[in-house]
Amino acid sequence: MSNGSRNSGGGGGSGGSGGGNEGGGFDELRAGKRRRPSTCSFCGKTHREAGPMVEGPNDTYICSSCVELCHNIIKQEKRRVTGSRRLFSRVPSPREIKDFLDKYVVGQDYAKKALSVAVHNHYQRLIHADRTESDEIEIEKSNILLLGPTGSGKTLLARSLARILNVPLAIGDATTLTEAGYVGEDVENILLRLLQNADFDLEAAQRGIIYIDEIDKIARSYGNVSITRDVSGEGVQQALLKMLEGTVANVPPQGGRKHPEQQYIQMDTTQILFICGGTFSGIEDIIKRRIGHKNIGFASEASGTEESAAELAEILRQVTPDDLIEYGMIPEFVGRLPLIATLAPLDEAGLVRVLTEPRNALCRQYRKFFEISGSKLEFTPEALREIARRALKRDTGARALRSVLEELMLDLMFELPEKEAAGTYVITDAVVRGDESPAVIKRELRKESA
Ligand code: ADP
Repeated sequence: MSNGSRNSGGGGGSGGSGGGNEGGGFDELRAGKRRRPSTCSFCGKTHREAGPMVEGPNDTYICSSCVELCHNIIKQEKRRVTGSRRLFSRVPSPREIKDFLDKYVVGQDYAKKALSVAVHNHYQRLIHADRTESDEIEIEKSNILLLGPTGSGKTLLARSLARILNVPLAIGDATTLTEAGYVGEDVENILLRLLQNADFDLEAAQRGIIYIDEIDKIARSYGNVSITRDVSGEGVQQALLKMLEGTVANVPPQGGRKHPEQQYIQMDTTQILFICGGTFSGIEDIIKRRIGHKNIGFASEASGTEESAAELAEILRQVTPDDLIEYGMIPEFVGRLPLIATLAPLDEAGLVRVLTEPRNALCRQYRKFFEISGSKLEFTPEALREIARRALKRDTGARALRSVLEELMLDLMFELPEKEAAGTYVITDAVVRGDESPAVIKRELRKESA
């Protein structure tokens, strides 16, 4: 089609669904008879509802959501023809998984171990079921709950797991989810995201990992201090529960709201590994009450943050499903998360390690930037500790490190490309505190190999 399509629609429309117009749309448009396209030839929506449309020959139109739908259908169809990616033939051992996690995630040994075992078993069972093709072997789901403060590495663990296992991953946030029919996102949209990340390989998606963050925010309100939320949290738990248990979900291929006349992709969630994450702030009080720990509150107040962080970790580790139920999670939901792995808050030393040790640690990234422009960058150990201390104050765990560093490095990064002499820039604690400027610290050294 030479000039067979063009963008039509736009501005305020004629409305009205009538206008069964004959004749070439282009010619008429060109001739100045600016008749508005009436409806999308695929879904029947007017352009007022559906927005701009693409016009084809013989007075046909297609709206943007139908374009996306067609794109997804074609991708799916291609997948069906080319077949899906095979699941790995050998599942990494728990130790291999943990060794891999160690490269990216600092500390959190307990969570890493627990995850490695659970994930190994999960995929081992899948492979086993695959090989024997026996319907009698029921794959018991082993979904996981990661419980720990903000910025302690929960999402990072889920991401790293998907990476080592080479399975698709989708990350969702429980706070944006709602029961079908309410404003917000349907739970099926997370499944769609997984499918998209698997490049519409349904088989691969059905063996992927879904990480749902902020799961504690959909707790029932009664056990919680918050009385502002109504019971809708429970409805979301019910909707998620179905996915966790394993169901065949109807996934709308273009996302968004479901419509009765829409086509769905049927996605089986039985083999998807669900990892839920949450801070469950305040749950330590429930645990303390149960185990009768009386003095901890006083001890932590008296001895500053570092010690109380360790104590808090110790208390959290003793969490039981009953504590979660008391917190406001429904028992069936808790029952579907047989493994609870707790993460400890990162202390100053932990944050220093986060800055320097992981493969893509922030300090390494900055050093790389400097190398590119022919210079070197060094942080003194005391500077690293000062950065960590500043991040700790923000109370968002390792998340704060990035912003602290970015603020610190801003001026230097701004000027770096203009600096003529290559040199070594040393960031000291005085620089971090703002007492000195990093440019002054510059040592005139010839660039050497790193
Ligand atoms: P959350 O526990 O809130 O899910 P994230 O995993 O999203 O925290 O962590 C936020 C950022 O902080 C990550 O991008 C990562 O760089 C860093 N981070 C947090 N915890 C760790 C950790 N244990 N080891 C290494 N980096 C971490």
